[in-house]
Amino acid sequence: MNVSLERQRAVVTGGSSGIGAAIAVALAAAGAKVAITYRTHGEAAQALATKIGPERALAIAADVSDAGAVGRMFGQVDQAWGGLDILVNSAGIDGARAMLWDSELTNWRRVIEVNLLGAYYCAREAVRRMVAQRRGVVLSVSSVHETIAWSGYSAYTASKAGLAMLTKTLALEAAPHGVRVLAVSPGAIRTPINRSVWSDPEQLKDLLTKIPLNRIGEPEEVARMVVVLVSEVASYVTGRTIFIDGGMSDNPSFAHGG
Ligand code: BGC
Repeated sequence: MNVSLERQRAVVTGGSSGIGAAIAVALAAAGAKVAITYRTHGEAAQALATKIGPERALAIAADVSDAGAVGRMFGQVDQAWGGLDILVNSAGIDGARAMLWDSELTNWRRVIEVNLLGAYYCAREAVRRMVAQRRGVVLSVSSVHETIAWSGYSAYTASKAGLAMLTKTLALEAAPHGVRVLAVSPGAIRTPINRSVWSDPEQLKDLLTKIPLNRIGEPEEVARMVVVLVSEVASYVTGRTIFIDGGMSDNPSFAHGG
């Protein structure tokens, strides 16, 4: 079985760090050209593009929560490569932890704007192009928290649950046009977003009780699965969220008793 992305043109939002960066590297390693979009980490995005190779990678600034900026970003990809075949929505934030009744509207709204509206703006631009060429794959990086409630993160969990239905509905709409739409739901993965937890022994110990495989995941373990899902190996898979979480979503508190 050959997992090849030769001649595929990919856009990875939030590709400058964490899971997005690992996905960009893995897509390129499988043969794809990759446009890495970033909002704040321009140097990291440029460095990654240089590492992948200038003929294979671009770094483009775009705040995904700004529909106009997203439109311009896709225009730049059109100019460089004449379109795209793969979109990975990986830009995301978890927001400030607060009980819902103490939360700030601006913070709450920002999480929805980046995680959900951002995915919508990018998918809209991408799928317009994919429908016209009758092929393409959109994959969004969701979270185990699209199904597991998380105290203090109501905007984050709501945005990820929203991504699940956006994925299913867009998959239904796009299927007749030869376009697949998927999501992955990572659990606790070693990235900057949760560094404060995995770098603290006490918090890490507590976290591991929630993970049947008893370790946190590496970004590459998510990226490998993404490469398979956007490749022809997964040609009959659409509308699904694949959990990559070491078993976290299977409620490990039931490992004993009950
Ligand atoms: C969050 C991480 C968290 C993980 C498991 C992810 O969606 O971004 O901070 O460790 O879920 O709870």
